Amino acid sequence: MNSDVFTSSSLGTYQACPRRYEWAYVLGIRRIRTPDRLGIGSAYHAGIEALNLGATVDQAIAKSRNAAPNEIDAERVACMVSGWHWRWREAPAFRRVLATEKVFEFKPVKRSRWTCAGKIDVIGELPDGRVAIGEYKTASEDLSPGSDYWRRLLIDRQVSLYVLGARSLGYDVDTVVYDAARLPGLKPRLLTRREGGGNGERENMEQYAARIAESMGEKPDWYFARAEIPRLPRDIEQFRTDLVHVVKSVRASGRAGVWPRNTDACRRWGACPYFGPCADCYDVETSGIPNGYERVTDVHAELTIGETDDDDHDNSAESAE
Ligand code: SF4
Repeated sequence: MNSDVFTSSSLGTYQACPRRYEWAYVLGIRRIRTPDRLGIGSAYHAGIEALNLGATVDQAIAKSRNAAPNEIDAERVACMVSGWHWRWREAPAFRRVLATEKVFEFKPVKRSRWTCAGKIDVIGELPDGRVAIGEYKTASEDLSPGSDYWRRLLIDRQVSLYVLGARSLGYDVDTVVYDAARLPGLKPRLLTRREGGGNGERENMEQYAARIAESMGEKPDWYFARAEIPRLPRDIEQFRTDLVHVVKSVRASGRAGVWPRNTDACRRWGACPYFGPCADCYDVETSGIPNGYERVTDVHAELTIGETDDDDHDNSAESAE
């Protein structure tokens, strides 16, 4: 395991629960990935990336559909990609794309023995000529202007880290364009008798997709929003202070071999992926890898394969629109 590389995800994991960090980044234990565990966030990301690389909207939708975990999510993500294209085709964020899926690794502190790494979705020129990072996210939250979603980004760790990361690659960026798409919470509904139902029949996938598309057409700003998230020098300095403190804490845990549990985080954003073995006080050293898990050698696989952190946060199926 490379314990000297920190990503926004690994730092966030430690801050949420040091024991969870130990499972994921020290022991390298991960749940075995199956198609139904690849999330809709990754599928959406695959389609947007394809569009940025010049694919047609049909090709991008096909790519997203193929990456979707199930039939219903395939419809949801197809609507999101076509909806995103429809929403922004007359107002592209960038007049020129300079780089996509750009991996960075750099030392935020001179002479440190640790580095920070990440993968930037897009670097491009804004219509006014400035160079900016583009980040594409899925969300389950309110995206209206001034909502907490946007307020939090003003202090977001990943935004600051990616600005420094892009600069380390030689791009003189000073801002980030955050492009958020809300996950449709609609589910296939029961058909009425007039529609041919009455015995538990639900609408087919075509009808379901049409209803999502209609909802997107009625309230595009509810589903798709974009904002510039600036980073001032004082923001970057505050980020560095936070970063150094968290990394020191991680390294102190490693030296002591103590990874405290934060049981407040066990059920936050859905169940922790280690809840079963952790609650059973499972010992990997004496009992081996728990069932349903595997040991990975690359704990930062998101830097090399097309996945996003959004997949951890799709709670929209439970939320009503
Ligand atoms: S189950 Fe709870 S205490 Fe254990 S690793 Fe997960 S969040 Fe931490």
